[in-house]
Order: sequence, then C-alpha cells, then structure tokens
Amino acid sequence: MNVIVRVAVSGGAVSGGAVSGEVESRSRAARRSSESAPYELSDFSRVRKFDAHVHLNVEDPTLPDLARENGFELLSINADSPDFPDLLDQRAVAAALAKDDPARIHWATTFSMMGFGTRRWLGRVTAGLAEAKAEGACAVKVWKNIGMTERDADGRLILLDHPVLEPVIDHARSLGLPVIGHQGEPHNCWLPLEHMTTDSDRRYFERHPHFHMHRWPDRPSYEDLIAMRDRFLTTHPRLQFVGAHMGSLEHDIDRLAGFLDRFPRAVVDLASRMSHVQCQSLRDHEHVRAFFIRYQDRLLYGSDMTFNAHTDPVRFRRVAPAIWVSDWRYLATAESQRVGSLRADVPGLALPRDVIDKVYCRNALRVYAISGDGC
Ligand SMILES: [Zn+2]
Repeated sequence: MNVIVRVAVSGGAVSGGAVSGEVESRSRAARRSSESAPYELSDFSRVRKFDAHVHLNVEDPTLPDLARENGFELLSINADSPDFPDLLDQRAVAAALAKDDPARIHWATTFSMMGFGTRRWLGRVTAGLAEAKAEGACAVKVWKNIGMTERDADGRLILLDHPVLEPVIDHARSLGLPVIGHQGEPHNCWLPLEHMTTDSDRRYFERHPHFHMHRWPDRPSYEDLIAMRDRFLTTHPRLQFVGAHMGSLEHDIDRLAGFLDRFPRAVVDLASRMSHVQCQSLRDHEHVRAFFIRYQDRLLYGSDMTFNAHTDPVRFRRVAPAIWVSDWRYLATAESQRVGSLRADVPGLALPRDVIDKVYCRNALRVYAISGDGC
C-alpha cells in the first residue's frame, strides 16, 4: 500500500497544546519554504544516483543491468565474510565488472586475516592493497570479523586498534584508499529476538546465531565495539573513514550526530539500516528530517544488495528495484508506505533536492574520489 500523505505535524515531541503546535508548524512551514522543493516519485529513474554499498560476488550482469536501467552507479564492496566467495575471486569479479563499465561500477577491496601477525601476512596484505588500487579499487573494507570473531595466536580477539593493523591502515591511507569500517552490529544484536525493534534484524540473527551477541555474553559488548572503533579513529584522525551501516549507531541518530561531530573526517552509509531510521521517524519525523539536513554532507545512500552464485536473477530483478524505489519514496518524497519490517505505515521525509543529490550521489563521488560529469 502506498498512500500519499502530506505530513502536517511531526510524529512526536509536540507539547504545549494547540497554540505552541500552531507556532511550531508555522516556523516549520517557513523553514521548508526556504528549502529546494522535494523530488517526486516519478523523478526516481531520471535522477543520477549512487548505491555506495552493494556486493557483486559473481560475474553476473543482473545487478549492473538494473543499475543502468534505474540510474545508479554502484560501489561493490569485497568483504572477508564466510558467506562470500574466496577473496581472490571477489576481487577478480569486481575488477572485471568495473572494467566492463568503469563509469558505473566501482569497487572496494579487502584483506584476509589468515596468518595475522606474521611478517608474511603484513607483506601479503600491503602488496594486495597496492595491486587492488592499481586494478581500480577505490577503498578498503574492514569487516566485523575484526572485533567479533578473529583471534590471534594466543586466542585473544583481534580488535581494530590492534597495533599489528596499524601499518595496514597507514598503507591504505598512503595509497589514498578510504577505509570502510563495519564494526559491531545493530544494537538489536545484543537483545533477545523478542525485544528487537525490526523484523529484519530478528530474521537475520535467527539465521546467523553465531553473530547474535545476546547468545554470547563472553564476547565484547555493543559499547566495547563502539569504543574500539572510536579509539581507532582517535589514533587515525586524518583517515577518510566510512562507517558502514550508519556506523552501527543506527538506533540513535543523536548518538550518530555526536559521532559525526567528534570525527569530522568520518561519513556513514545507510546500507541495510533504513528501517531503523524509519523506526525513529515514526516517533519524531521532524527530528529525523532535521538530522538528514544537518548532516547532508556526511551520509551516503547504500542498499547492501548482494548478488551471489545462488541468487535467483528473476526474483532479484523484481526485488532490487522495489527496494531502491521504497528508499527513494521514504527519503525523497512525502509519500507514506507500508514497511513490513516495522509493521507500520511510514511517511516519507521529503528531503530537499539538494540534500537528496548529496546523499544519493555527490557525497559518494567526493569520498571515493570518483571523477565523472558530476551529479
Ligand atoms: Zn554489506
């Protein structure tokens, strides 16, 4: 159901009765009159867009074709995930697809933690980053295995601020590769399934119990992992850092605002976390809208769509555009839509065009130093 609803009042934080409500809506109307008009749903396919978080894991044209049809450039991110192909295969696939369509397909490399701490490991990783950069990689991904599952020779968890990782990060910076960091998980990961705020998290952690931290009280807490990431950024203040999945602060935009204020070189992508944003805008629509406007230079649109060897291309062709259009409907228009993961109708944010252009394209081009004819 996609009912068109023009949003008249915020979803929360309205107090003081009718008079102050009237004053508030007048000042909101004045504020909005100075903004560029929002896009319409029909603008979706014609506006240039960039999905800064997908995973092209096999050399299949389905997702690149969909990107072409829907006006997207893509950043395909390699990741040291057990659910993904071997890292050398991921790299070969990404480089080949990017070579086929260099104006549309971009990619981020990563490195294996196998052999961590040995001199050979460091040599292999630094050489691998340089080779990937020469093949066209525009970033390097550090996955959640660091901090959650990887252990050193003594059985201790390897944290992101481990001194052995420092030369790797320095090398990435010297190559001009931003670091995409996925540390931690959604806050829901530390809650029992029945207390999670979205059905999508509930499904994911039911299927991936080894990553459902509520089941593993001996593993680092949510706060431990956030503190680890923040310590890491404190020691690398000049690093261009992209916090994947809203920097794992998806449940609290005020906390995310604090993170972005504290680390001015950091940006975040929105991949796989739209329902968490929607959950907050259901409570306070204007607050979430104001967050996007304030941090319009620091947010990158991303979907986290993944195309694996077993992915059904027919179903993918149906589902992927629906996700892109749903996200556009929410961010760019005022239209309301049913969000299954929240079991609620969610009004769109109707962000100004300038903000949408940045979140949907210009920020990614800037952060990943991708040249082109601009958004
Ligand atoms: Zn991802």
